[in-house]
Amino acid sequence: MKYGIVIPDGAADEPCAALGGRTPLQAARLPAMDAIAREGVLGRARHVPDRFLPASDVATLSLFGYDPERYYTGRAPLEVVAMGVPLGPDDWAVRCNLMTIVEGRIADFTAGHIRSEEGAALIAALQAELPARFPGIEFHAGVSYRNAMIVRGQAGAVAPFDESTRTTPPHDVPDQPAADHLPEGTGARLLREVMREAESILAEHPVNRARVEAGQRPANAIWLWGQGRAPSVPRFSELHGLRGAIISAVDLVRGTGMLAGWTRIDVPGATGYLDTDYAAKGRYAIEALRTHDLVCVHIEAPDEASHEGRPEAKVEALERIDEAIVAPLHEALRVQGAYRILICPDHATLLRTRAHDRAPVPWAMCGTGLAGSGLAYDERSALEGGGPLLDPGWRLMARFLGRADE
Ligand SMILES: [Zn+2]
Repeated sequence: MKYGIVIPDGAADEPCAALGGRTPLQAARLPAMDAIAREGVLGRARHVPDRFLPASDVATLSLFGYDPERYYTGRAPLEVVAMGVPLGPDDWAVRCNLMTIVEGRIADFTAGHIRSEEGAALIAALQAELPARFPGIEFHAGVSYRNAMIVRGQAGAVAPFDESTRTTPPHDVPDQPAADHLPEGTGARLLREVMREAESILAEHPVNRARVEAGQRPANAIWLWGQGRAPSVPRFSELHGLRGAIISAVDLVRGTGMLAGWTRIDVPGATGYLDTDYAAKGRYAIEALRTHDLVCVHIEAPDEASHEGRPEAKVEALERIDEAIVAPLHEALRVQGAYRILICPDHATLLRTRAHDRAPVPWAMCGTGLAGSGLAYDERSALEGGGPLLDPGWRLMARFLGRADE
């Protein structure tokens, strides 16, 4: 049996006035996703347990079948796996957003979706100056605005952060005063000082001067959050006896897949944004099916459209995913023999709030051994006519693989 999973990040939403009172999943034309729900089963899953913030880190672990209560240690450590940065047992990884502050407010947590090459130049400038002032810290460039800071610890020494350390995801507080959301608790002073010192280095940097001249948002600040130590999770192949592959432009998601032992497949033209090359992701997924038992494709675009509060862009992203990824992947699975395919967002991202939401997400799966629901794929059919609410959501994987009661 071969398995395909498609994760439209942040796709779940509420009815939206701009879409005629429909959710983006209802407003979009999604023949391939609807076919999966109609031919198979659908339901809801709660991927974010109550004590966590709703975000892709916790939710992706859960989607991959890992209980976040047991395995989640923070967001940044998952991302640095994909960056290839080794973490020792006493080291901490911290997410370092490049972002734009205007009049003290978090105007753009992506710094205008800064290009990775520009971001890398800015991160290199921070690395050249700040470790001398703050021993033990390192900066590492990731994709676009998503970069990392490492704090190297020492065995037996006091840890730089602990349970009391509170940091805020900047995408959860758009347009709010930065000063209201600075780190608190153990290690807050270090984080605040590094953030402050970074501002003067970034302000003078040629990359930012050029961006301002070109009418683009400068990356005039960093935001440190998502700290954690290296997690340890059992390999997917040991748990389920299947070889997996992950296709994503986002370090967090591919890092989580790599942690599970999945092959990371990089797709040229995959950007983690609305301009991603959907068709290329579909082609690479089908190619990966030849050599893997399970292929997971993650697309960030619907989440980004929600964060920007753009209903039409979200609908368009969903339609492109349906046409260029879900439809061809489903067909490729069907023609090769026994198969299953699953559609499930990690979490909801609401156009109304431009932020993540902890409501359960709708899933749909079809394939060998699954009977037809006759329903379309959207939030309401999953709630009213669908199958069970899986809570905790990490149990969805066993159900998908046919290893749990259906
Ligand atoms: Zn998001």
